[in-house]
Amino acid sequence: MKEAAMTVLDRVPADDEIQADEWWAEEIRRLAKKRNATILAHNYQLPAIQDVADHVGDSLALSRIAAEVPEETIVFCGVHFMAETAKILSPDKTVLIPDARAGCSLADSISADDLRAWKADHPDAVVVSYVNTTAAVKAETDICCTSSNAVDVVASIPEDREVLFCPDQFLGAHVRRVTGRTNMHIWAGECHVHAGINGDELADQARRHPDAELFVHPECGCATSALYLAGEGAFPEDRVKILSTGGMLDAARETGARQVLVATEVGMLHQLRRAAPDVDFMAVNDRASCKYMKMITPAALLRCLMDGTDEVHVDPDTASRARASVQRMIEIGQPGGGE
Ligand code: SF4
Repeated sequence: MKEAAMTVLDRVPADDEIQADEWWAEEIRRLAKKRNATILAHNYQLPAIQDVADHVGDSLALSRIAAEVPEETIVFCGVHFMAETAKILSPDKTVLIPDARAGCSLADSISADDLRAWKADHPDAVVVSYVNTTAAVKAETDICCTSSNAVDVVASIPEDREVLFCPDQFLGAHVRRVTGRTNMHIWAGECHVHAGINGDELADQARRHPDAELFVHPECGCATSALYLAGEGAFPEDRVKILSTGGMLDAARETGARQVLVATEVGMLHQLRRAAPDVDFMAVNDRASCKYMKMITPAALLRCLMDGTDEVHVDPDTASRARASVQRMIEIGQPGGGE
């Protein structure tokens, strides 16, 4: 902020008027307090957004925090399906997202209509959906899953029942390989970010950094391809660690490696470097940046707190059915924290 640097804004600022400086951070804190709001930031948010938030984490952990904190308003700095999940688990709270256009290419790869049509072709199948889905898709789902418990969820289904697995084809392929299940149909969805992380790139990085470890975050659409490729032998298995976000931060503090390659969205590097400043963390692909996550700009967060927009709504019937599939997910295996 230039001219009005020490003043309180009385109008909605334009994007180019706002810098994430000390004034901005103080103003965010002041407005959040005035609105009785908690600010939650996903690990893939811009560093300034992570630093100003009350809590930083993965989607499921943040949704659980949203339900537990005393504040009546939740400002969810992440993508839309994550804010919807928070609303599903906290139906009586006001949930805001600084820019409702922040979608997810993986969640958008299947609609509720698509899923209903697929179910009509397989009327006796059990539907398992990755947590990166809209509330409407979750409402059509029998059991949601994260990558951490996807194998356990599918294994819990009687062997003679067909399984419809959506929307991530890489996670689906991984589950089918581990379970050996032949009556499992997989939706051909994918995240636009993971497309940049391929087997050649992983193998090349392994050759160029022979002592590095590889951290793969299993709940990210972009990392499920890495998970698949690691299983295929593209990276030496003994140096691959499949970790949730929390596990990744613990492993960062404990690792004896001087270099760690990170196969996930690049925003995660900020938390890892804070946790272990002496370790050299490198992105497997430094272009693996989610454009939707980065739509939550400092100006958008300021506007959100000034105007109370954009509010996230999920109709009560959809929320109730979606909540049931999310609760079944939480009961099976170790669900981890979502993306
Ligand atoms: S990184 Fe991929 S899966 Fe994650 S929010 Fe962005 S588009 Fe969706």
